[in-house]
Amino acid sequence: MKGLKDRVAIVTGAARGIGRAVAQRLFEEGMCVMLADIDPKGETTALAIGPEERVLFTECDVSEKLDVRNALAATIDAFGDVNVLVNNAGILGGSGFLDLSEADLDRVLGVNLKGTFLMSQAVAKHMVERVEAGGKPGVSPGAIVNMSSVNAVFALPDQVAYSVSKAAISQLTRASALALAEYGIRVNAVGPGSIQTDMLAGVANDPAAKRKLLSRTPMKRIGNPAEIAALVAFLASDEASYITGQTVYADGGRLPLNYVVKTD
Ligand code: NAP
Repeated sequence: MKGLKDRVAIVTGAARGIGRAVAQRLFEEGMCVMLADIDPKGETTALAIGPEERVLFTECDVSEKLDVRNALAATIDAFGDVNVLVNNAGILGGSGFLDLSEADLDRVLGVNLKGTFLMSQAVAKHMVERVEAGGKPGVSPGAIVNMSSVNAVFALPDQVAYSVSKAAISQLTRASALALAEYGIRVNAVGPGSIQTDMLAGVANDPAAKRKLLSRTPMKRIGNPAEIAALVAFLASDEASYITGQTVYADGGRLPLNYVVKTD
């Protein structure tokens, strides 16, 4: 896709799942990729994706400001720049509203929302500095892609903190897009439906839960991480040069269905 080859991306939560597929796709598009994950297994993932001249891993808890700063510095040290940030790291956790503990609320918002904010702010400051210094000819000012969810729109009653964090990510996407528009830096989000990763294992491996899920998914199947990665690559690329502040849903038709037909 236009504008990705020879550029540099940071992908958070890239040791496995959707983040791994995004890192793989951006590598295939010709980018240098820094995998930033709290899980040291990200090192093995990086080695599996490509050679260390183009794919590296840095251990990073996105909810820790110092880790975020180190991940950015490591990327610039290794690859000289950052053109694309994919804020993919995210966790489920906690419970329904009446039982949700303060600790669980802090933990989920800390990774999903604060982590997205800290990474975005740090990388955006770097991108803005580069623009103010005159930029590089032929290189777009930068793009940020956040990982939201269909749960930004409809709430999961037993995952209050998660649903709230994803709705907040869509608003953070709009607010940061407005702040960065004057520099030509674009910010968008992807809102996946149900995607086959470890995060979904509890539902995908339970036949009754899976049947219920598919009854609410018009395309009648669970999505693949690569299908999300394709959308992330598009939004990160110059093909999406006039798109900013949007959350684009890839959900097999779940949101359009809007529960207007009977579900199991
Ligand atoms: P996953 O398989 O659980 O992978 C998430 C990765 O993020 C793991 O490697 C995890 O490490 C890492 N991570 C967790 N906390 C982190 C932190 N503080 N800093 C850095 N990395 C951290 O999840 P996934 O299904 O690929 O989901 C990726 C993103 O898509 C999430 O934001 C999720 O909310 C969103 N999403 C997923 C689905 C779905 O159906 N799968 C649907 C909608 C949205 P550990 O293994 O050590 O925790």
